[in-house]
Amino acid sequence: MKLILLGPPGAGKGTQAKLIVDKYSIPQLSTGDMLREAVANGTEVGKKAKAVMDAGNLVSDDIVNAIVSERLDHDDCKNGFILDGFPRTLEQADALSGMLAEKNLKLDTVVELKVDDEALVERVSGRYTCGNCGEGYHDTFKKPAKDGVCDRCGQSQFKRRPDDNAEVMRTRLMAYYKETSPLLGFYYAKGDLKSVDGMGEITGIFNAIDNILESV
Ligand code: AMP
Repeated sequence: MKLILLGPPGAGKGTQAKLIVDKYSIPQLSTGDMLREAVANGTEVGKKAKAVMDAGNLVSDDIVNAIVSERLDHDDCKNGFILDGFPRTLEQADALSGMLAEKNLKLDTVVELKVDDEALVERVSGRYTCGNCGEGYHDTFKKPAKDGVCDRCGQSQFKRRPDDNAEVMRTRLMAYYKETSPLLGFYYAKGDLKSVDGMGEITGIFNAIDNILESV
């Protein structure tokens, strides 16, 4: 299964990607995660990306395309992958088509998660993760059962992304509508686009995505 999850920041791409990973045993290729790792490790890419990411703007196509192309060559992508947060510009979408053709791979589907703007800001500004195991939480929607203790691993160190605040979120949303939303037309024209209502419960949304995946 080779798919792209499309949608604005906070639409639930990461959450749904993890459920798809569990069911289909394919890796989640999140360019945001890869870039954050590069920033944390202080690599050349990380140094170039940090200020751009903190401001909520898009990192250059060249950098992101190179990261994804390299990642697609790893063994764990042989049976498929979920692209989460990539492509984000028409140039990246073109580059992806080229990469896949060169590697003899074919995309199965592109799933768009549709969520209202107000919900996006609320979701993003309240979210945080366990610093140890990465389990996701939210100030309103998903608190740990025991205050300050991760349900999954029992640790107490939580972290918030520096770009998950209302102000930077406005820039991220603008980048989405300006640069990324044209991809909806791009993939619709290819017959690859499927849209899912991303406003409901996590499990219900996953079932809707899974029905699409089962049918391709
Ligand atoms: P995300 O975790 O997908 O919300 O991405 C966090 C930040 O990483 C974005 O706001 C961008 O600055 C950067 N980023 C992630 N993926 C891409 C991409 N495909 N193209 C450009 N910038 C990206």
